[in-house]
Amino acid sequence: MDFNDSPQEAEFRQQVRSWLALNADQYRQPLDMADVQGYTAKARDWQKQKALAGYAAIRWPRAEGGLDGTTMMEVIFSEEEARYHVPVGPLVTIGTTMAVPTIRKHGTPEQIERFTRPALHGDELWCQLFSEPSAGSDLANLRTRAVQDGDDWVINGQKVWTSWAHVADWGILLARTDSTVPKHKGLTYFLVDMRSPGIDVRPIQQISGESEFNEVFITDLRIPDSYRIGGVGEGWKCAMTTLMNERFNVGGESQSLPGVAEMIRHVRKSGQNLDQRRAAQLLTQEMGLRYFRFRLLTSLSKGETPGPIAALGKLVHANMLQDLSAMALDAAGLSGICAEDDPQLQKFQHGYTWSAALRIAGGTDEILRNQIAERVLGLPGEIRVDKDIPFSQCR
Ligand SMILES: Cc1cc2nc3c(=O)[nH]c(=O)nc-3n(C[C@H](O)[C@H](O)[C@H](O)COP(=O)(O)OP(=O)(O)OC[C@H]3O[C@@H](n4cnc5c(N)ncnc54)[C@H](O)[C@@H]3O)c2cc1C
Repeated sequence: MDFNDSPQEAEFRQQVRSWLALNADQYRQPLDMADVQGYTAKARDWQKQKALAGYAAIRWPRAEGGLDGTTMMEVIFSEEEARYHVPVGPLVTIGTTMAVPTIRKHGTPEQIERFTRPALHGDELWCQLFSEPSAGSDLANLRTRAVQDGDDWVINGQKVWTSWAHVADWGILLARTDSTVPKHKGLTYFLVDMRSPGIDVRPIQQISGESEFNEVFITDLRIPDSYRIGGVGEGWKCAMTTLMNERFNVGGESQSLPGVAEMIRHVRKSGQNLDQRRAAQLLTQEMGLRYFRFRLLTSLSKGETPGPIAALGKLVHANMLQDLSAMALDAAGLSGICAEDDPQLQKFQHGYTWSAALRIAGGTDEILRNQIAERVLGLPGEIRVDKDIPFSQCR
């Protein structure tokens, strides 16, 4: 969609287009995600190219590798970048949009100095070691333990659904340091060198044949205290910074995901009847979502943190993507299943399957609805019986 750029924004857009035409030409076709090593190398490389040109952190000061730019410039870059199949997924953004903002908000100057630049330049990729077999939606229920031993912490436990842990250099880890206090209060946030002894990463084979997720078994892993972010017992506060950024970032526009206009064109071409009412609803949602994101970006540009309302973006986007992809696949009939020779249909297939994952990752639909109900609309909270009792007494 076009929108009205100011003269300065139009000039920046042109500058970005020229830079992308020069540097992103190899990304005109989808990448082979099954080639994990190849994809990872390309992702590192693309991130470095962006960082060297100042596009990896447009709003940051020039001295820190940014462009001293505005939020709108960042939006313009993302819009233009999304025209290409560039490797910019979670493999990179867990570091740049979740780990780094958390470190910059809660870390020491030394930690900020140590970790910002390598993530920004694609030299260090990150994974998120939060979820566990009994701690997903109820993250504070986690059981991975960290016990202090001199200047180190010794970690034991298991994480699951850890995207890209098999290629990550570093991980953000949430562990329990005190079981005698209520569950949210006994957690601490750490940074983990993923090559440390005591970490066993086991890929989970997905139905697609790809292995994007992992189980991560942690046995007597030692983490220096200098890799602790925030105070002991302040892990929940730090994790909230990470999760708010995740919910804000997950599920933005991308060249590999179909939009509503594409769906409408596709259904018309197939000769099937278009459910105009449903299509109009989806179009309205898509536009609403776009302007909602602009509003969030504006508040970000004023230095505000995206609050619980940010959850609305992912909730609406994931459901809209699933609905529009389903409409396109329905119109295609059996070809919607066997789409080997049809890149357009494959895109809707990808939208359909990815939206299912998106409705879980970074907070399920139900959890986001709870969050919006309680923290945005101010409705009465869910009954939480374990809120004020020590974790060791929760069963
Ligand atoms: C694509 C993808 C990538 C992921 N990557 C990572 C990663 O890199 N790192 C990481 O740490 N985790 C990752 N996860 C895990 C993700 O955070 C969890 O799957 C998610 O938080 C849900 O937790 P769960 O799977 O344990 O489901 P559960 O929490 O067991 O939920 C099961 C069902 O119960 C519902 N439910 C639970 N509690 C409530 C409630 N209070 N009210 C109403 N309904 C409720 C849920 O909505 C859901 O439908 C990823 C998941 C996906 C799908």
